[in-house]
Amino acid sequence: MTTRRAFLGQSAVAAGVTFLPFVASADGHAANTFETPAGPLTVHPISHASFVMETPNGTIYVDPVGDRSLYGRFRQPDLILITHEHGDHYNEETLLSINGEVTTIFTNPAVFERLPNRIKRFAAPMENGDTNFFNAVGVRAVPAYNTTEGRLNYHPQGRDNGYILYFNGFTVYISGDTEDIPEMRALTDIDLAFVCMNLPWTMDAEAAASAVNEFAPTYCYPYHYRGRDNGTQDPQEFADMLNATQAKFGPWYG
Ligand code: ZN
Ligand code: ZN
Repeated sequence: MTTRRAFLGQSAVAAGVTFLPFVASADGHAANTFETPAGPLTVHPISHASFVMETPNGTIYVDPVGDRSLYGRFRQPDLILITHEHGDHYNEETLLSINGEVTTIFTNPAVFERLPNRIKRFAAPMENGDTNFFNAVGVRAVPAYNTTEGRLNYHPQGRDNGYILYFNGFTVYISGDTEDIPEMRALTDIDLAFVCMNLPWTMDAEAAASAVNEFAPTYCYPYHYRGRDNGTQDPQEFADMLNATQAKFGPWYG
């Protein structure tokens, strides 16, 4: 645990922003399984923005950071998705420790440029709007950015990615770090969404709920919800504001 805190602390400093120490529970095994036409898809929250999905098309790690022991109980990744360069989403040491050197990685161009060559070999940069395929899963990079004065530098428009994953008959949206942008509100046919909410970096629970009510996914995980000072958002408060969408909770912070 000490190692993990130091690890995240260093990477947060490197990203130029300060994060609270996240305490991830190594035994927080709470997972949810979603039935899809191709078979079960199981979500394992790891911490804050990091999670693992066991899918009919392979094991997918999203924004893996932190100590490798957090990932020890899972199969090695078949695909890694990285949304952007901040320390709570991208960490080179973590990638190396979880076999990132031989795993396909889709990432935004800014992180792609930072990747060491031995990882870059199997990585592909994706800009907002780009589509790629992995093992019969369509992957689309979508915008993720701030819109509020005073927050614009955190996630400038066009730099970072969210992702939409098109499994056979089941669609997953991963917000990345963003506010309630029009591109999110305009999403359609999302079965499962992961939506961030924390201040000052992203948005508050009310803005997140407003957007989610507009694109109306079947299920939604509030994730990435601890913030600075009073910026932590309450996932239950978020859930209470939802209309048709069912909130899913996970042990994102131990
Ligand atoms: Zn960020
Ligand atoms: Zn973040």
